[in-house]
Amino acid sequence: MEELPSLQRLIRQLQRLPYLASKNVYRVAQHFLELSESQREDFCRILLDSCNGLCRCPVCWAWSEKSSGCMFCNVSRRDASLLCVVESWHDLQAIEQTGVFKGMYHVLGGVLSPLDGIGPDDLSIEQLKKRIDGSVKEVILAINQSPEGDATSALLARSLKSSGVVVTCLARGLPVGIALEYSDRLTLNKALLDRRIF
Ligand SMILES: [Zn+2]
Repeated sequence: MEELPSLQRLIRQLQRLPYLASKNVYRVAQHFLELSESQREDFCRILLDSCNGLCRCPVCWAWSEKSSGCMFCNVSRRDASLLCVVESWHDLQAIEQTGVFKGMYHVLGGVLSPLDGIGPDDLSIEQLKKRIDGSVKEVILAINQSPEGDATSALLARSLKSSGVVVTCLARGLPVGIALEYSDRLTLNKALLDRRIF
């Protein structure tokens, strides 16, 4: 590899990408090398344009188009009395795809994880508390079941207790250890319908 410094640089960048298995790094590098110059330019331009065109909604923390605003907060037909708290954008997508939930969302941006240095201040908990005014009647904690997720749900339930809002969580029908984004629609739908008081 030392005699191929250009390839080495590319591999090093790819190795920094999360979710890309290390055994696939060389395949992805080869894919880029085999693209035509215009395909590579298109890829780089779209990557930059897409990232520049998006921002976190300051209210719900979901990704939104800078030009048109939040696709959830700015929609009047959604039920503002129901607020579903999720860890990530992927989990929001999983719930949205069930087609059942018509309330509002709040993306936490992760879960408490002391080992990774993620504390309450790294999550959008303060933003969530600010949203609990008289209009929100129920907060659904749709947080993945794991020791970190359960600790996060417990903290949120404690933080919201004084507001008097009803706090529910998803039914335990979901397989333990499986991320929401990998659950099938039916299972997630059932878990959402059978939610219970937390
Ligand atoms: Zn929003």
